[in-house]
Amino acid sequence: MSDLRRGVCLVIAAPSGAGKSTITRRLLESEPALSLSVSVTTRGPRAGEVDGVHYHFIGQDRYDALVSAGELLEWAGVFGKSYGTPRGPVEAALAAGRDVVFDIDWQGYRQMRAALPEDVVGLFVLPPTVAELERRLRGRGTDSEAVIAGRMAAARGEMSHAAEFDFVLVNDDLEQAVDAARSVLVAARLAVRRQAGLLARFT
Ligand code: 5GP
Repeated sequence: MSDLRRGVCLVIAAPSGAGKSTITRRLLESEPALSLSVSVTTRGPRAGEVDGVHYHFIGQDRYDALVSAGELLEWAGVFGKSYGTPRGPVEAALAAGRDVVFDIDWQGYRQMRAALPEDVVGLFVLPPTVAELERRLRGRGTDSEAVIAGRMAAARGEMSHAAEFDFVLVNDDLEQAVDAARSVLVAARLAVRRQAGLLARFT
């Protein structure tokens, strides 16, 4: 029997402003065997975002068709737009023993957990303090108080689900946060339930 193990589904969630995208990117750079699940979304691309790399940018009709055909592993509305995780690439990666990281929200995490209970590991990233999060969400100071209040409410909503995750870390030092996220991935790879092939060689 080979030592081939199933891949890990590492779901990283956080309120916006906590540094989740940076941590995810750094993890991908330092872990060549790890790949990013590229979601579909009905929102338009932002400056610098590339179709097929950051997201698959699609229209609502195509999105609805993917949902109906069962081709999304999870899907959710976030900030008035639709998002979802294509099923095919994830199932292929897991079966081949490749690990996948997901930059999705708590709603997606819940569905992923229900769909793939043996595969999913959840990591929640918190900002150092709520005051620091607000400072980051104020951005360059051009947004109205109402917009900032909306962002803070969304951030608090996301953080209210942190206890549903397996691991939580505070991003007050980027290097340490990346190291901690990598430790979660390494520990998940070593979980006995993923190592049946290895154990079979010794028993
Ligand atoms: P943004 O539009 O800023 O890229 O993402 C907004 C939020 O949607 C983020 O919290 C992001 O993690 C989440 N998100 C991105 N893709 C997906 C997805 O496929 N499923 C779910 N449930 N959330 C997603």
